Amino acid sequence: MKKGKLVVYTGCSGVGKGTIMKELLKRNANIRLSVSCTTRKPRPEDIEGVTYYFVSKEEFRATAEQDGFLEYAQFCDNYYGTPKAAVDKMLRKGYDVFLEIEVDGGMQVMYKRPDCISIFITPPSMEELEKRLRGRGTEDEETIIKRLERAVDEMKFERYYKYSVLNDNPERAAKEILSILEAEKNGK
Ligand code: 5GP
Repeated sequence: MKKGKLVVYTGCSGVGKGTIMKELLKRNANIRLSVSCTTRKPRPEDIEGVTYYFVSKEEFRATAEQDGFLEYAQFCDNYYGTPKAAVDKMLRKGYDVFLEIEVDGGMQVMYKRPDCISIFITPPSMEELEKRLRGRGTEDEETIIKRLERAVDEMKFERYYKYSVLNDNPERAAKEILSILEAEKNGK
């Protein structure tokens, strides 16, 4: 069985990564999304074990100390990490595994797994990003401001990613990502 592809999939808060991801999962049965651990509080739409594993800071630290994360990073006061064993198991089974992670973690994975595919999702404009972030109504004003500031910083990392995909429309963006994946799997 051929190993699957590891995909670093990054885009700032509010860019629409989740919506594109749903399209990808709908269109390609070989794609799996890695479920991360986080210390952030669950949002109403979150499902334990599906969107995240919600853990305490102590639990997170213990996993990090046991080298249980492929990467981990701090993002706006919380920790997020990719469980290594689960990802490698899915890759061995031949699945293409997407890591929906921020830029610090993305850089760690590009360094540790140079054969990964890295994709950066960009918003049509910063104004549009702010509109989307406010529109989803899940964060308070302080968090929105923090996430927008962070977005400006994150955009500087776009150049380290092999591919940039504009989210002007989630279906179109998903199709573009699927053609990137196909091309990479066929050795371009
Ligand atoms: P949110 O709190 O909106 O779910 O996620 C905040 C940010 O953390 C997003 O950019 C998301 O992609 C990123 N993130 C989610 N899981 C991980 C992870 O395991 N590692 C890293 N480095 N970032 C993550």
